[in-house]
Amino acid sequence: MLEVRDVVKDYPGPVRALDGVSLRVDAGEAAAIVGRSGSGKSTLLHIMGTLDRPTSGSIAIDGIDVTARSDRELAALRARRIGFVFQQFFLIDGLSALENVANGLLYAGVPAGGRRRLAREALDRVGLAHRLEHVPATLSGGERQRVAIARALVGHPSIVFADEPTGNLDSHSGAEILRLLEELNAAGTTMLVITHEREIAASLPRRIEMRDGRIELDTGASG
Ligand code: ADP
Ligand code: MG
Repeated sequence: MLEVRDVVKDYPGPVRALDGVSLRVDAGEAAAIVGRSGSGKSTLLHIMGTLDRPTSGSIAIDGIDVTARSDRELAALRARRIGFVFQQFFLIDGLSALENVANGLLYAGVPAGGRRRLAREALDRVGLAHRLEHVPATLSGGERQRVAIARALVGHPSIVFADEPTGNLDSHSGAEILRLLEELNAAGTTMLVITHEREIAASLPRRIEMRDGRIELDTGASG
């Protein structure tokens, strides 16, 4: 499903943010990526999600080597195969929950009617069938993150990447989001979740610990 090989990422400075990272994630897995601030977690997530390119090394998603693809090809691949959830939600203020989720399909080649139907289904999956027409400002933080999760799921991606999904939530909402992620994984969604929170890391079957741009420990290393 996802194969990362010998990935190095240098930023101008120079800073070596990733220093030779390899990992494989199989279909249906859920793993937490942990490590202190600056250890390279977000950089790795951006590169695995094809939002950024490695300095060297390779990434394959669903067996497709993405390293040599054009930006346009990567955008199409992201639209079909990858879902993202970020700490800051990144919802569009003026749009309803339904429209925000339907927008997740804009680049997947789904006609408008189909986008709305799939968005309704995705919002139902995250427990927000009763909030379809609400705009983000009228939703709680936990509900906003559910909308963002629905947007990540709406295209039935191969893998979902989440970067500190509970980082902006109170502990109660955070626990609910965690439960939702567990349910989604139990139903088959493959996911990698960056987190500072021990509770989340402990609740996922696999833990990948990063330090200084390297994987220091991987409890589920396969291959
Ligand atoms: P984490 O998510 O674990 O906190 P990051 O992946 O954000 O870590 O950062 C890893 C290292 O790369 C840090 O030293 C950070 O300062 C540096 N870094 C991240 N993004 C950039 C960038 N766009 N330009 C320069 N340095 C960066
Ligand atoms: Mg980070």
